[in-house]
Amino acid sequence: MAETRSLRRGRRPELMWGLGLTELQRQQIETAIGPGFFLRNFPSGRFPWKKELGQAEKPTATWIPWRIWNDIPEFRRNEYRTLANTQRILIQENEDDLSLEKVLEEGFLTVIRAPLSRNKVQDAVFRAKEVTSMYSDIYRMTEEILLERELLARKTDQLMFLNKILASANESLEPATILMNAKETLELILPVRQLHAAFWQRRDEGYAVDVELYLNGKATPDVESRWVEQLMAQAATLGGGPVNEFQIGHVDPARRPEFNHGPEDGRLVVMPLTAGQESFGCLALLCEPEYRLGKDEVETFRSAVNHLGLALRNAMLFKEVKLRADHDGLTRIYNRHTFDERLVYELKRRQRYRHDLSLLMVDLDHFKNVNDTYGHQAGDAVLRKVGEILTESLRSTDLAARYGGEEFVVLLPHTSEQDAWMLAERIRARIADVCFESEGRKFTVTSSIGVASVEAGSLSRDEDLVIKADKALYQAKNNGRNMTVVSGRQPETISVSQ
Ligand code: GH3
Ligand code: MG
Ligand code: MG
Repeated sequence: MAETRSLRRGRRPELMWGLGLTELQRQQIETAIGPGFFLRNFPSGRFPWKKELGQAEKPTATWIPWRIWNDIPEFRRNEYRTLANTQRILIQENEDDLSLEKVLEEGFLTVIRAPLSRNKVQDAVFRAKEVTSMYSDIYRMTEEILLERELLARKTDQLMFLNKILASANESLEPATILMNAKETLELILPVRQLHAAFWQRRDEGYAVDVELYLNGKATPDVESRWVEQLMAQAATLGGGPVNEFQIGHVDPARRPEFNHGPEDGRLVVMPLTAGQESFGCLALLCEPEYRLGKDEVETFRSAVNHLGLALRNAMLFKEVKLRADHDGLTRIYNRHTFDERLVYELKRRQRYRHDLSLLMVDLDHFKNVNDTYGHQAGDAVLRKVGEILTESLRSTDLAARYGGEEFVVLLPHTSEQDAWMLAERIRARIADVCFESEGRKFTVTSSIGVASVEAGSLSRDEDLVIKADKALYQAKNNGRNMTVVSGRQPETISVSQ
């Protein structure tokens, strides 16, 4: 009774087919299945074939007597075998000689033996329906597995991408290199046209920020200035203060790609870089205009930017620490430690190539008086100015350092004694020319300079260079200050020869 009720479920009768059923079989099936189903019996010779099978409403089940099936040519049988969601129920008539193997071979999962009693028919329909629903379950599960597999593949891709970002970001402590590698890696998931960055540091005194820009490549002055403007605006907004000073850092010129897209030539994505609560920079990515990231890609992208942010932060800190270790805090030129290292290096090179090498030792005259008269801060300002003068007077291969107190050294590779002397005189004049002011009182400062050189081809012991320059400086002091003395010569001698 329960079975009959459930067979009738659903408003529209479910379709079933019969292929060449006898009138008796048709009646028996119809009686058993009741009004929940509609049985359409195709007379022999009018069976639906390929085309109709494709178009017609698919039957839940198709009843096929063995004698009919047996007469259908093999290639036609296959059209029924492959019919999705339709179960074929085989009717075995009394005279049929049918083995289980044969039934399975023909791909039937349900067989019913004539006479077709009500119970047998209902049972067969149930089993057919069960198989169908099992099929659709398997089909659905397979689909789910395929989907999962696809998601997993995407996740794997994303993890590999993050791994790459992480590895390449930690390969270098040079922000420009990190950025260039990052661009290459980001291109794996994003059509990145450009990647530039700005880093800022709050000034101790107030809200203004010092900004360092990294342009990843070289462009025409117009394009470059549009990027600079864009990044400076971001720095002012995200950095939380007006921009005080800025400088542009570039990637190694040999590796700098050319670019001609301005910030408005695509989709600009600006990602702030933060450490804790504080923002210290931003990345500006220019993507293809139409590009949109998928939801999971956005997350991956965010993690990538976080990784990059950390690596860049480390690189910036490293740069700062290195700068502090190499430079003098007051004058911002190199410190004695850097000079000592560089001196050893230059002496070794000189021993090898026997080129000229000169050294200046600069000491401010009566500097103690400056401090005593105008105050320590005025003294500091003088030292800073001398640092600037030295930096401006030198070539890129020269090195100026604060040797200590009010004493400076200048190392001049490939410079003869004569040229070193001329440079010393120029420096001395420039220092003497500066008019300082402290609380309305004007003053000037002079300096004494000792010069020592080892000339090309000379086999003299060059370790004494510092001692010789120091002695020459002492001589300059003794001879009245505000002068340059070359080691081993009388102050007058060289002046006369000029
Ligand atoms: P001389 O012409 O013989 O070199 O006389 P001097 O006064 O320059 O030499 P001295 O060595 O007697 O004094 C050096 C002075 O430099 C003393 C010290 O207070 C000052 N000094 C050293 N370092 C600094 C600094 O960082 N800032 C300031 N303001 N003064 C400094
Ligand atoms: Mg002095
Ligand atoms: Mg001194």
